[in-house]
Formats: sequence, C-alpha cells, structure tokens
Amino acid sequence: MQDTAKVHKLGMADNEAVAKIDAMADKGFGFDMTDVDVIVLGAGMVGIATALHLLDRGKTVALIDRREPAEETSFGNAGLIQSEAVIPYAFPHDPAAILAVLTGQSTAASLQWKALPAIAPWLMAYARQSSKSAIAKTAAANVPLVRRAFPEHHALMERADALKFLHEGGYLRLYRTDAELERSLKLDEVVRERYGVAFEVWDKARLRAEEPFLSDTIAGAIHMPEPKSVDDPSDVGKAYAALFQREGGRFIKGDATTLRREGAGWQVTGEDGPVRAKDVVVALGPWSGDLLKANGVDVPLGVKRGYHMHYAAEGDAVLNHPFVDEANGFVVGPNKRGYRLTTGAEFSNRDAPPSPVQLDHAEPKARALFPLGKRLQDKPWLGSRPSLPDLLPMIGPVPGVPGMWANFGHHHLGFTLGPATGRLLAEMITGEAPFTDPAPYAVDRVIG
Ligand SMILES: Cc1cc2nc3c(=O)[nH]c(=O)nc-3n(C[C@H](O)[C@H](O)[C@H](O)COP(=O)(O)OP(=O)(O)OC[C@H]3O[C@@H](n4cnc5c(N)ncnc54)[C@H](O)[C@@H]3O)c2cc1C
Repeated sequence: MQDTAKVHKLGMADNEAVAKIDAMADKGFGFDMTDVDVIVLGAGMVGIATALHLLDRGKTVALIDRREPAEETSFGNAGLIQSEAVIPYAFPHDPAAILAVLTGQSTAASLQWKALPAIAPWLMAYARQSSKSAIAKTAAANVPLVRRAFPEHHALMERADALKFLHEGGYLRLYRTDAELERSLKLDEVVRERYGVAFEVWDKARLRAEEPFLSDTIAGAIHMPEPKSVDDPSDVGKAYAALFQREGGRFIKGDATTLRREGAGWQVTGEDGPVRAKDVVVALGPWSGDLLKANGVDVPLGVKRGYHMHYAAEGDAVLNHPFVDEANGFVVGPNKRGYRLTTGAEFSNRDAPPSPVQLDHAEPKARALFPLGKRLQDKPWLGSRPSLPDLLPMIGPVPGVPGMWANFGHHHLGFTLGPATGRLLAEMITGEAPFTDPAPYAVDRVIG
C-alpha cells in the first residue's frame, strides 16, 4: 500500500516535472535555443552573401526565405559578373528612344500602360536621376563596389567549390552598323580614361575567328575582357548557401512578413517556430520595400522587370562568349539549360501578370545574330530587378528602426554585387572598418 502510494506520488512528481520541462523547452530552457545574433531575410544572392560575411565575422546567423535559396531574381538572371559596369542604365533622353518605348516599338525597354498611374512617380524620379551630373555621381559610387565584385565572388567560389561554374573571357557587345559602334566607342574611351575600364574592338575578321557562328551582318564588336560569366547563377547562389550551412549558419524556411518587435530585438516565424535576434537584415530584393513600409519607412523601390527563355542551338552552332545586343538591350549566353536569352527592362507593377511583348521583340533579333533553335521552356521566366531611382543599392541602418539593416536595390547588378555589398553591410553591423565609405548607399540619402 505504502509502496503504491509512493509510486503514485512519484508519478505525480514525474508528470509535473515533465510539464515543467515541456514549458521550459517551449521557452528555450531559459536561454533561447532559437536565438541568433542576426536574422537575414531573403536568400537571394544578396542575402546569402550577407549571411556568409556575418558568419565569417563571428556572428550566429539565421537566413530566412519562403523558398529554397536563389530561386527568385537570383535564379533567372544573365549570370554576368559585370566588374566593368560603372555607368548606370539611364532613363533615355533621346526623344526618339522615348517615343519608341511609349509606342511599343523598343526592344530594349517596354512600358505596361496599365501600370503607369502607379509607377509614374518612380519613373519621374528615375528620369531626374538620369541627368549628366546624377549619372556621374552614381558612377563614382559604383566604382568601389564593382571593383570589389569579382574578388569577393572568387573568394566565395573557392570556398564553396563553385569555381567550376565560372567562365573567364568577358562578354561581347554587338553592333549592326559602324555608326553605332563608333558612338559606343566614344563613350567607352571616356569610361576607360576616367574609371580604367578595359575594352577591345573586334573587327569583322576577329569576330569571325572568335565566334564563327555569329551573323556576318554584324559590323563589329566591343569585347569587355574583365567581366566573367557563370553556367547558371542559381547554382552559384545555392553553392554559397550550402557553404553558409556547412559553416554553421542556419537556413530556415519562413515568411518575412511575420517579422515582429521582440523586446529590443526581432522575432520572425520560421517553419519550426519563432527565431529571435537583436538585428535583422532586409535582403528581400524586389519585396524589400513592402517590409520597410510595414515598419513605417517608405523607400522609392521600383522594378525593372525582365524575362528569360532557353533555346537549343541549331546544328553544331556554339557561342564562346555571352553577347549583348547593344541596340536592343538583350543578352544571349550559354547556360547549363541551353542558350539563355534575357531581355531588357519592362516598366510595370512588380506583381502584374507577365506580358509576351519583350520576348516577342527580342527573339527574332537574337535569331538573326546567332542560330538559336527551338525554345526549351513552356513559358518565359519573369523576374524583377529591384531598383531605386538613382540605381544604387541601399546598404546600411534603416533610420528610425533600431536593429533593422537594409541590403537591397541592386537593380541590373545584384548577381555581380551581392558578395561585395554583403561584405560592406557585415562590416557595418560588426563595427569593422568598411572597405569603402557607405554614405552613397545610405537608406536616407536624398532621392529625386
Ligand atoms: C532578366 C534579368 C537579367 C539580369 N542579369 C543580371 C546579370 O547578368 N548580372 C547581374 O549582376 N545581375 C543581373 N540581374 C539582376 C539580379 O538578378 C538582381 O539584382 C539580383 O538577383 C537581386 O538579388 P536579391 O538577393 O536582392 O533578390 P532576390 O534574388 O529576388 O532574393 C530575394 C529573396 O527574398 C525572398 N522573399 C521575398 N519575400 C519574402 C517573404 N515574405 N518571406 C520570405 N522570403 C521572401 C524571395 O523568395 C527571394 O529568394 C538581372 C535581372 C533580371 C531580371
């Protein structure tokens, strides 16, 4: 009897203990098992690289995305590491070019008219930020970032076993007429003199020797020798994300919109429960503005949408360098899925349905330059270049929101710049001397 009572008593105590332990486990045993130093929201190239640089500096990091790493904008881009890209893609000033966009005749850029009321303020700010003096300012601010772009990629590629994806050899800009080539050369000479960007002119004979399958209607090409390209930008992003996890970082599926204040820090809900940290980095690419807005900060983040399609080559045709059709703003380059054609900019709302216009314009022009075969995808991929009107990223603390940091707005250059801007932001968060003055990229810079 006594024994039974004792057992019963012990059973009660056990249950209480179990309940207590359960409660403690819910709270993380008094010290939070889910706590990290920094939460990085968004596992595109920018977020992944930021997370890695933070980890390298001794921070514990949770990288959060609703999808697997590098499956949105960082999935479908042209895969160029544009270490030459100092001059931004400005709003056109030539009335003929503007008219071509407005009337749907331009291949380089298109406008979805339905979106105009919503995007007009952004377009006007972009036009204002495309004055000569504003472009010179943006170019000067681009220099330290693009110079750092390839060394940072290379260092990560070595560690992530991703050098196998890399192609040296630069890319080509193609021109159909001598006049177009001459015009471009004049600008390239100025850029070389001011910023040290190298280029070579390839005449018809050289082009034929290097690229025997390109059309002989091309008047000539400018070879940019310093940029690099990769087989597939998403593979590179995924390799960096795998490195992050191998080295102790935590990748967690979760929705960034669950971000809430938690004491002096932040909490976001991941698939296995809440994750808490003192600091949070917003690296949500084209979705970054929404999260800042939810926290009371309005940034003029617009999008320049673009499409891609993969093609087989006809017969035994081979392309040795990616090329840009300068007049029409599209790129064709080898990708592991086939020849990837990426289009120029479509001005629209981020979430508007895709339109066939850009690819319909670009495809026949691309076929006239290189013998592309059949399409290898059912429908085009669509992505949104996250763009501030001055075409500089936002990197640094978000004013008025303690513990929130920005790293987004990498426009045409997010694949190129992710590792460099990731480093810069990690240096700022950890109080290390930044490799360049971050002032030009501040969130509260005056825009338009
Ligand atoms: C057609 C085209 C061609 C391009 N070519 C080049 C090129 O050759 N070279 C170059 O340097 N750049 C190029 N770019 C630009 C480049 O792709 C982008 O600048 C870059 O991918 C942006 O990276 P990101 O990490 O900022 O954004 P993303 O890659 O879009 O990453 C943002 C992440 O946030 C996640 N996310 C969004 N909302 C939520 C949420 N609520 N919860 C959780 N996660 C969320 C998304 O799933 C995504 O993974 C090109 C772009 C396009 C469209």
